[in-house]
Amino acid sequence: MKFLNASAPTFSTRVIASFVNEHFDLVGDYKSLYSERDQNFHLRSGDGTQWVVKIGNADEDPANIDCQFKALLHLQHAAPALPLPRLLRTSTGAEHANIEGDDGRAHLLYIFSFLEGEIASKRILKPKDFASIGAMIARLQRGLSGFFHAAAGNRQLLWDVREAEVFRSKLPLLGSFASEAEAILNRFTSDIMPKLAALRAQVIHGDVHGHNLILDAEKQITGIIDFGDMFHGPAILDLSNALADFVHETDDLTGLWTALVRGYHSIQRIEAAELDVLFDLAVMRELVTLLITETRKAETPDQPNYIADSGFGSKQGLEKILTIGRERATAIFAAAASLAAPVATSSLETLVERRKKVMGQRPYVFYDPPLHIVRGEGAFLFDSEGRGYLDCYNNVPIVGHCNARIVGAISAQARILNTNTRYMGEQVLEYAERLGDLTGGKLTACAFVNSGSEANDIAWRMAKAWTGHRGFITQEFAYHGITEAIDAISPSAMRKGTLPPHVRTILAPDGYRGIHKHGTPDLGARYAEDIDHAIHSFAAAGIEPAALIIDSAFMTNGILEPCPGYVREVMHRVHRAGGLLIADEVQSGFGRMGDHFWGYMHHDVTPDFVTIGKPAGNGHPIGVVLTRPEILDHFCEQTAFFSTFGGNNVSCAAGLAVLDEIAERDLISHANEVGQYFKSGLKSLQAKFSMIGDVRGMGLAFGVELVKDHKTLTPAPDETSRFINALRDQGVLAGSEGVHGNIIKMRPPLIFTKENADLALSAMRKAFAHIA
Ligand code: PMP
Repeated sequence: MKFLNASAPTFSTRVIASFVNEHFDLVGDYKSLYSERDQNFHLRSGDGTQWVVKIGNADEDPANIDCQFKALLHLQHAAPALPLPRLLRTSTGAEHANIEGDDGRAHLLYIFSFLEGEIASKRILKPKDFASIGAMIARLQRGLSGFFHAAAGNRQLLWDVREAEVFRSKLPLLGSFASEAEAILNRFTSDIMPKLAALRAQVIHGDVHGHNLILDAEKQITGIIDFGDMFHGPAILDLSNALADFVHETDDLTGLWTALVRGYHSIQRIEAAELDVLFDLAVMRELVTLLITETRKAETPDQPNYIADSGFGSKQGLEKILTIGRERATAIFAAAASLAAPVATSSLETLVERRKKVMGQRPYVFYDPPLHIVRGEGAFLFDSEGRGYLDCYNNVPIVGHCNARIVGAISAQARILNTNTRYMGEQVLEYAERLGDLTGGKLTACAFVNSGSEANDIAWRMAKAWTGHRGFITQEFAYHGITEAIDAISPSAMRKGTLPPHVRTILAPDGYRGIHKHGTPDLGARYAEDIDHAIHSFAAAGIEPAALIIDSAFMTNGILEPCPGYVREVMHRVHRAGGLLIADEVQSGFGRMGDHFWGYMHHDVTPDFVTIGKPAGNGHPIGVVLTRPEILDHFCEQTAFFSTFGGNNVSCAAGLAVLDEIAERDLISHANEVGQYFKSGLKSLQAKFSMIGDVRGMGLAFGVELVKDHKTLTPAPDETSRFINALRDQGVLAGSEGVHGNIIKMRPPLIFTKENADLALSAMRKAFAHIA
């Protein structure tokens, strides 16, 4: 490895000017620019264009320069928006020309476009500017991610912290600091180096600091220069080098680091293993720079020491970093990374006001004040201030927020093809076949739509077409969706008005609060009798039932546990009256209730339709109606059924990935196990807090009903709402449910762990104590 004593070439301006004229057909005014190991000139040509003329050090491996040329050419295509210098070719189209020095050695001469602006180190930079720099580092890195050059792979560069061991013999130059530096080096070699091999690696710029960035008057980055330190190595070194290289530019190290990490992570996700070593890498960068400058001072005391004079690699800098310490620094990085993603630019109040203007005056939102969520990961959501919340509410991300498999499937498919079912395609067939198999081959015909509402709407149209009837039976406080037909059977959404004449409601089998209590013999059959009222009432109006729709988890009715025999009995009765059963599995499907894939299986029935939505795509919109082939065919004879987005390639890729994830990770058994653990924790809370009237649920769907009095069962909706907000303050998200709004509703993702359950239970304990 060379260049500890690098001396730059020293051609005269006259010689260079005539060479450039001859080989690049360019004349103008030359001004000398500083370079550590090359010779650089600024050239303003006769036509006003500006250039940087570079004469490479004769000791430089020409392959390294070729690597720079190829990297810049690559970036022109891969990331054309980046502010980078462009290479000027010679009159014969070459990337450089060879110029011989007085010593007879050959130097490469090449020319880049000059980027207007001022070197960043000359400006006072604020956190906002450092965030832009962090983001720029990440954009450049992304641009280079598809690039490789053998010279970068082979490069051994003193500035690369992985070479730190070569400085062991120089440690005494640090005087009183030598032993501390030795301890740092020892730790780096034994603990950090082995970890680096497993990190994401690529060709990186590796040297983005204040002297290699150009800013305009508004401090926008107009140039990234000096690609002379590129090598192939852990990508995170781009960031860790910057964390150290900017240390001398500010007194607010926490602000600097937060901003750089936040900016970087907003473009390029920092992985946990990278976060783990970020501090050690920054320390080592500062130490290596210090050792290089001390070595130069000792070995070539007469030569200018530009790096040290600019403030890079100083003992003070290193002390500043070490004072923060590994633990605090890593916490700063982690907080900054969780803040990243979309950086909040508006206050909550502003958002609420903006929202009212464009989304209606009555903000239908969770929590008071509402949450501004900017990121999700697994069982957690993060707000705009970086606070994490354990998500025990959202039933859509069934395999966890931003699940890597689903995100990967969606983005991979989006890159290949996304079109509709009017073309032959295998994905949609595979998805349909797999869904059908999950019904035990009973419901094998699929109609693809985009939401739970649409699925129910189409099932309803099919039921009407098949039966020739027009009556619709639904549970008294059910919710099934937003279309006109489905809104009519969603009493829980009704704020005004009455049910239309073709709709009848039936009692939900609520053994806690309903008219028949737990312990009543044949509870299911008793509740089922209620459907006779509906059927008789229809008959009196000359109507026959086309369908009965049931949410297998009775979610809006308060997450009722399956009542043995109930669904079976109402199904028989509606079948006898000529109607069909729609099992709305939008909430209860995909293992939500544990034990089985579908909620209806807990009721020991085979419905005529299964409708799915919410979790099917883990957040990607998917709706499907599953039915018997003859019902679908009959429907399609009457209407040209087609939904543009229904069953598109990307949706099917998402849907298939969800099925794979549930199956391969055995998430239904997992949900059972964790669910039982969580439920027993909820039961112990019930023993402690008297306002808990009932705890119920299965799998990972729970209802905790709050009452003022265990005898009268007077509902406690205000307490429920205060509890939900207090729980949110404890960092856990739940919702409320039921006719009286007094039931705490919890439906965490199936990846929920026992540790998550402990966290939720401890937060619930505090929230109950808070509102008691
Ligand atoms: N059915 C049930 C049981 C639901 O809970 C919902 C949504 N909450 C729907 C249907 C409607 O689904 P979507 O919002 O996707 O239209």
